[in-house]
Amino acid sequence: MEKARHTKQKQLLLDILNAYAPLTAMQLYTKAAEQCPTIAKSTVYRNLETMVQRGELCRGFLENGESFFSLAGSEHHHYMICRDCNRMQDLPACPMETLGKMTAGSDFVAMDHVVQIYGYCGECAVKHNI
Ligand SMILES: [Zn+2]
Ligand SMILES: [Zn+2]
Repeated sequence: MEKARHTKQKQLLLDILNAYAPLTAMQLYTKAAEQCPTIAKSTVYRNLETMVQRGELCRGFLENGESFFSLAGSEHHHYMICRDCNRMQDLPACPMETLGKMTAGSDFVAMDHVVQIYGYCGECAVKHNI
């Protein structure tokens, strides 16, 4: 029984990510609790950690260090993250296509990378007069 319940909660998290990713753990928990009010915050966090370890999810970081999650297996993404409202927008390309050439001559085999851009979304830029 215990196992079935966990699978159901994990599926709920995957469904939410599928529709709304990227999301922080807190945003995910809030959405999950709307559909499943008994879900515990610790369950959400634990499931997320496990799914990242299994390579089912990708983890990124907001500027304050908070993690956000998206589905692995979907397309490789980079995000432009708003400092104010934390809205995340897709970067239209992977900068590694250019950066990769820089590692080519070095004694290093690049396997993975994290590129995130912090700034202000259009709305917040106006609000802050930027
Ligand atoms: Zn914003
Ligand atoms: Zn990339």
